[in-house]
Amino acid sequence: MAIATLAQDPRIHRITAIWNWDSIVELFFIDAPTRALIDTGASDTPRNYVEPALQSLGLQLSDIDVILNTHGHQDHMGGNHALLNHTRAQVYMHREDAFLVEDLEAHMDYIWHADTHVLGQDLSARRAQFLHTVTGPTAVHHVLEDDEIVDLGDDVQFRVVHLPGHSPGSIAYHWEAKQIAFAGDAVQGQGSKPGTFPLYYSARRYAQSMRRLASLNIETLALAHRYLWSQASRDALRSGKAAAKTVQDSIAVVEMIHQAVAAALRQHAGAGFLPVALAATQALAAELPFTVDPRTGLPTGLPATLFAHYTELTSEAVDTVH
Ligand SMILES: [Zn+2]
Repeated sequence: MAIATLAQDPRIHRITAIWNWDSIVELFFIDAPTRALIDTGASDTPRNYVEPALQSLGLQLSDIDVILNTHGHQDHMGGNHALLNHTRAQVYMHREDAFLVEDLEAHMDYIWHADTHVLGQDLSARRAQFLHTVTGPTAVHHVLEDDEIVDLGDDVQFRVVHLPGHSPGSIAYHWEAKQIAFAGDAVQGQGSKPGTFPLYYSARRYAQSMRRLASLNIETLALAHRYLWSQASRDALRSGKAAAKTVQDSIAVVEMIHQAVAAALRQHAGAGFLPVALAATQALAAELPFTVDPRTGLPTGLPATLFAHYTELTSEAVDTVH
């Protein structure tokens, strides 16, 4: 049974799910007076993982009152639509990610902007796979803002901490009394699994978010994937020094990538994105444990992160930092 009760509070249950064949995503069920599921995985996650987990607690999918999405990516909200066939749960998500769950075409345009418009890749297979893992768009019933309190009853109150970068509306649900933050993918470390690269769409906002996170009183970080960092352990739950070090490593990584792209830009001024990205990838390959896609010469599957640094270094455009 892929469910475990957390030592931090017996009302927190971690549900470990597999999606897309071999990828792990962590969900958390909070057995408060208002019962909450933090993220829903992909389209088949509610039936295959959440339902058996709840049954082991004597509960049903219909007992879920609120879906607290950490952000709008497919492996975190892909089960929203399927779950809403079984429960009248309200969907909570940050304002800046609402479009990702309400409009799947806009979602794909956004996440694959660099792949499509810069690299000219054919995305038909990836689109089909996306639409398989996300059964449909859903409404966001409760649009969250930074610093808002989500009150689940009794002593269970989560403060919303807006941590944009990985996505515009990435948030952590911070249960301050327990010093635990459910951070989804907001903290990227060195990437979500072996061979991957950190993924964010705004480098500037991501770096700011990591510095903000470092300033908060958080004992335990509950991540959605088993992020790589400078240490060997791979648990998605990081407590004490491991939590602080994961955030510090994330700051070090975004600064390292920034320096690599800046150096590549000096070498290849005016040459456009691809030569800069290739040079930065080569420089970073010695420092970070990612694999290179032989078709592009770039970190596998993820031109977006390098494109974010590139656009921020080459453009005078004001982004949406606030
Ligand atoms: Zn994500």
